[in-house]
Amino acid sequence: MLEKMSRLYAPTLKEDPTEADLASHKLLLRAGMIRKTASGLYSYLPLAWRSLEKIETIVREEMDSHGGQEVLLPVLTPAELWRESGRWDVYGPELMRVQDRHEREFALGPTHEETMTDLVNHELKSYKQLPQNLYQIQQKFRDELRPRFGLMRGREFIMKDAYSFDADEAGLKATYDQMYDAYDRIFKRCGLHCVPVAADSGQIGGSSSIEFMALAEYGEAAIVHCDQCGYAADEEAATAVIAVADGPATPDGEMVELDTPGAHTIEEVAALLGVDRSATRKSIALVNGVGEPVVAIVPGDHELNDVKASHAFGDYRLMTDEELESLGLVKGCIGPVGLPEGVLCVCDISLQQSLSWLVGANLPEKHLAGACPGRDFTPDEWLDLASAKAGDRCPECGAPLKEARGIEVGQIFQLGDKYSRALHATFLDQDGKERFFQMGCYGIGVTRTLAAVVEQSHDEAGIVWPVPVAPFEVEVLPLDVSDDLVWPAAQRLADELAALGVQTLLDDRKERAGVKFNDADLLGLPYQVVLGKRGVKNGTVELKDRADGERTDVPLEDVASQVA
Ligand code: ATP
Ligand code: MG
Ligand code: MG
Ligand code: MG
Repeated sequence: MLEKMSRLYAPTLKEDPTEADLASHKLLLRAGMIRKTASGLYSYLPLAWRSLEKIETIVREEMDSHGGQEVLLPVLTPAELWRESGRWDVYGPELMRVQDRHEREFALGPTHEETMTDLVNHELKSYKQLPQNLYQIQQKFRDELRPRFGLMRGREFIMKDAYSFDADEAGLKATYDQMYDAYDRIFKRCGLHCVPVAADSGQIGGSSSIEFMALAEYGEAAIVHCDQCGYAADEEAATAVIAVADGPATPDGEMVELDTPGAHTIEEVAALLGVDRSATRKSIALVNGVGEPVVAIVPGDHELNDVKASHAFGDYRLMTDEELESLGLVKGCIGPVGLPEGVLCVCDISLQQSLSWLVGANLPEKHLAGACPGRDFTPDEWLDLASAKAGDRCPECGAPLKEARGIEVGQIFQLGDKYSRALHATFLDQDGKERFFQMGCYGIGVTRTLAAVVEQSHDEAGIVWPVPVAPFEVEVLPLDVSDDLVWPAAQRLADELAALGVQTLLDDRKERAGVKFNDADLLGLPYQVVLGKRGVKNGTVELKDRADGERTDVPLEDVASQVA
């Protein structure tokens, strides 16, 4: 493959665009790879498209070799399916809704759990046809509140989304583990340094989830991790959400009274705290008034019914004053410290009772540290208190946690029967019994992965492409295209490389050497072959490795064997 710079549509920019803060955003614009069409909407120019296709190929190869089968579903998804799952209302303004001429409602797919479940429903009838794992690579639409950082958070972006259907939980777990391996390989092959972290299941719901975070100084996601034991979690997942109630709870546990008058549902409590209850599996604790027990702790995805169930406190034990003191606590009131999925919230009720509840719930003592001064907190203060921070103790081993930032490039979920139940998607098991599919879903942000690669791999001069996702592998730079030695030598070399299967870009422009060097570094192809007059006369060229900047003089006839 040989491309000439003179005809390539790659409008480079000399200056940093003012609209961009992040290195990847700046460089993709400057290298003429992407252009903004409107807020959160980007066009991928030829160079970006070449890299995106390489990422997609890696994704396809790994999905196919880990049990996936590629399909392509419509982008436009009927409202009925979203209504069946309940997400038409729950998804909120992020869902882009459209109507056809008959006023039938649709959504531009932000994700395809419903559509994919509907696709297999009534087709997969027997356990013998399971498991199935279907994926697609497609544009997705989310009307993000703050589209920003170029390809990182677009309103339209390319995603690989996969959905698995298993007969039982063990099957789902096996498929999930397979996807974990596939993801690990995909990001490594893309040249990304990623860490898997425990995640919040978010809008999609479900029980177990891991995010793949590309570590980056300016990543949007905050992570806490432990060097001692390897524990790592999304800060959101490591956050306990606390609701404080200051009055008596209703007997059924569904209502609480806050400082504001009147009764509140969990949703209202969440709203008061500024938390989207539907978009979180964080725990909410409802705490009762003076003299009454703590009413309920609602771990993540439990429904209101579970609130009632948790009225039964189980075996808890009151802590002695000495025990309290040994935890550094005084009587009065304590505040929450980062809990992975746990909850800690105590206000003016019996401190001992609450603490002992928490001990009974097997929360490690370390989470009980940190006294609060016994005043009301604003919702922001509660959230701040509740999120895990550097120095908090690791829930697994107790060592101090560290903070890092990352870019969420992929996420895998064990959904269980959340969607199959909602959409009545069933199969017959070995005993002829009707059962709901055990589902998993698995996303990768293809365009975000491209941006993450640039974010991790660049210097002051420009992008430094890892070979597997570089738009081209080699750039041939004849410094003087009007020279009758240099130009023919460059053409011959470029042809030879292309014939060997090396993806080659030939800078055939009549530009000054300085301009060519700058553009070559900005574009960041892994190898540059520079042909100068003196060198070519002696039969040598300069081979530059973009990653380490090393230049070596190489005999012209050896170039192909060195880079191919
Ligand atoms: P985020 O937390 O960044 O909003 P998400 O958790 O909402 O992402 P998922 O629903 O898990 O995203 O979607 C799967 C993948 O799609 C994400 O891991 C991410 O790589 C990518 N993705 C999600 N939203 C966007 C977006 N607005 N622009 C580009 N890529 C995105
Ligand atoms: Mg999101
Ligand atoms: Mg997320
Ligand atoms: Mg996610």
